Amino acid sequence: MHTFPDAKTVARALKPDEPVILNRPHAAKRAAEFFVGKFPGKVLYAVKANPAPDLIEVLWDAGVTHYDTASIAEVRLVRGVLPDATLCFMHPIKTPSAIREAYFKHGVKTFSLDSIEELEKIVEACRNPETGEPAQDLRLCVRIRVSSEYSELSLASKFGCDLLEAPELLQQARQHCDWLGICFHVGSQAMTPFAFVQALDRTRAAIAEASVVIDMIDVGGGFPSIYPGMEPPPLEDYFAIIHQHFYALPIAYNAELWCEPGRALCAEYSSMIVKVEKRRGSELYINDGAYGALYDAAHVAWRFPANALEDDLRDGLEDFAFYGPTCDDADYMAGPFPLPADIQAGDYIEIGMLGAYGAAMKTGFNGFGDAECVIVTDEPMLSLFNGTRVREDSDNVVSLR
Ligand SMILES: *Cc1c(COP(=O)(O)O)cnc(C)c1O
Repeated sequence: MHTFPDAKTVARALKPDEPVILNRPHAAKRAAEFFVGKFPGKVLYAVKANPAPDLIEVLWDAGVTHYDTASIAEVRLVRGVLPDATLCFMHPIKTPSAIREAYFKHGVKTFSLDSIEELEKIVEACRNPETGEPAQDLRLCVRIRVSSEYSELSLASKFGCDLLEAPELLQQARQHCDWLGICFHVGSQAMTPFAFVQALDRTRAAIAEASVVIDMIDVGGGFPSIYPGMEPPPLEDYFAIIHQHFYALPIAYNAELWCEPGRALCAEYSSMIVKVEKRRGSELYINDGAYGALYDAAHVAWRFPANALEDDLRDGLEDFAFYGPTCDDADYMAGPFPLPADIQAGDYIEIGMLGAYGAAMKTGFNGFGDAECVIVTDEPMLSLFNGTRVREDSDNVVSLR
């Protein structure tokens, strides 16, 4: 991969007709070091946010040793890149063959589940094929359902057992493993640490009802990044409040605390250069969109930062919407994206904060989707980790006891 100082240099040097993904390994390294250094427990990277092998290597070098994988393809991918990493299979619905391959071939011991059926599936799939003996080293993790009300993207409806089912499932799971955890996901881009408070309160209720020994609490992902109009409180506040409520749980004295950030570790890793193909009033037709790295901009009206890369444009900004390259009306991004008022066909734009659920979403639909990748060394367009964000007084600030 070629290295350039910044997006402007790339646009000038390559004059690209296709989108170009700009990767910033230094930004991913900084985010990983922040989490590994400051989160009061173990940090797993949720691979689905961006499975790029180069990124996974950067995270490993920065101290991330555990990986949350959700499919057998992700298990194989991470195992191929990192032979020594600890892989956890955290999708609550898996096929028996995926469980078997993960356990016997890739050394996966940790599996999540949210039903008795899944528990039985895991136990069966991991039996010794010759002796029929059940596995002795399973580490099971019961996913409970929690509210997504404080998050921008819900993960509340699909997975997780409810509080009525949890005690029975915890008791059953306990009989098949020496190490039992509880996990949940508060939804992605949780804009206040209280998202984790309500989830840990539910966890407490489930443990009290089940009366089983719990060896691990996994607070999942949901840690925010920063986007226009979405400036979260400092991540230290999330860590402090999680730590405080974790300590108050009725769990084993040596119980572990885990988290599984996806977005927060890799949002700053990538941006993208797109080309304006045509202008129609305040709408710009660009060469990436709903089926590309701008999936969230189209489907959930996510606002990403955008900068024009030409020097000759006037200062005055105007709000623009984008159309992507495919032939359907759904390939539309409302924004608004403030850009110079005289931007026109042929100009280039850098769109930032696409490292999480951006670069990873690109498809080849309608023949579009090619993109070159290069490395750039400048700062991401926005950052939670560059030292410019100072702790402000807010309702969300908590202090450790
Ligand atoms: C998607 C996902 C994550 C990562 O979520 P972010 O909001 O990106 O931090 C973590 N854990 C599980 C089980 C997930 O499905």
